Amino acid sequence: MNICALNEWLHVCRLDRDEVVTLLKIADRLRALRHTVDLSAGHAPPIPASEAWEIATLALEAFLPQLAGTIRKASEETPRFLEAGRQGQEPGRPFTHHGDATTSPFVSCDYRGRPVDMLDVAHELAHVTQIAASRGAPMPPVQREVCAFLGEAALIRWAAMHRPTLVRALKSAWHASDTIYLIRDADLLSRALHAESPSYDYRWNYPVARLMASAFLRDACQNDRTALFCAGPAAPAILARFPVLPFPVALPPLPAAAGGPGDAYRHAGAIALLDMQADQGGGGDSLGKRHADLLNCMKTRSVFITLNDDGEPAGYATWDPVAAEPVQSGVRCRAFPGAEDVLTSSLRLHLPEVALRADRHERTTEPEAAANV
Ligand SMILES: [Zn+2]
Repeated sequence: MNICALNEWLHVCRLDRDEVVTLLKIADRLRALRHTVDLSAGHAPPIPASEAWEIATLALEAFLPQLAGTIRKASEETPRFLEAGRQGQEPGRPFTHHGDATTSPFVSCDYRGRPVDMLDVAHELAHVTQIAASRGAPMPPVQREVCAFLGEAALIRWAAMHRPTLVRALKSAWHASDTIYLIRDADLLSRALHAESPSYDYRWNYPVARLMASAFLRDACQNDRTALFCAGPAAPAILARFPVLPFPVALPPLPAAAGGPGDAYRHAGAIALLDMQADQGGGGDSLGKRHADLLNCMKTRSVFITLNDDGEPAGYATWDPVAAEPVQSGVRCRAFPGAEDVLTSSLRLHLPEVALRADRHERTTEPEAAANV
């Protein structure tokens, strides 16, 4: 697909300029998120390239069972070069050469056994699978990158079920890659949108595709996934049914407490991120008041953060340690959308008295809230 200019790219990918501007604003909000959380990749033993390819195949088969035959065939028959480049050199970018009517696709990956390399392998296998499933009908670049990111997500899902020792490192690698796709590449696209006549850069596709892939993953069923991989040029119409919401699907995991001042920063960062999910950065209080209240709670040890099974922040509670009950409960609870029960049950388990005050607060404020609707 030969694209030269910005308008051509927008047209081919069925995007309009305003939509891309909105997506870049969402990516911009995630910038703060990536800067506040430790992105160290965690430990995972190196996986040989042949094993990584097979794991990626199993993961994609589990993700797209209706295409299992196509995936296995693509996995077995695709020529590939999965070897480490020269020591001391920057790893080269992985790629899938598309081939044409007479040649089959070819995969190349500077494979060094790291979690990020495993994600790259899954990404390239998803490209090959999409080409085969679409029977060679060209898919626009944004949408084909969505398919490739789904391949990476499929690997993480599979690892959660079958290789729990790998999943944390793979998730960290995914979040670390966000800093490339949603910061560096988003900046590139943003500059292009405001430039006179920018020439096409393939990296424009990544920030848009990354956000679309997360939205699709959240809501799509198995039939939608199969349909997308098979859709070729019709892929934009399928993805249009899954709008990108103005908050990310998951927060990065909070590292274990190290016992230093860094812990306080991380905890404050996690709380700020949860606030962003709950009210998209708005809310009634000013930022200054929120920070002052939070600092006070941290000083008086009246703050509680709960994590989900993956170590990601699921919610928090702060409370006034000297509130005069029952007139003023002073408990403030914020949960990641959909994780309200995780916060409530965790609070009941670890801090039953605070949970009781929060319950009472909810009961006494409910009629007022209803009256405001
Ligand atoms: Zn790709």
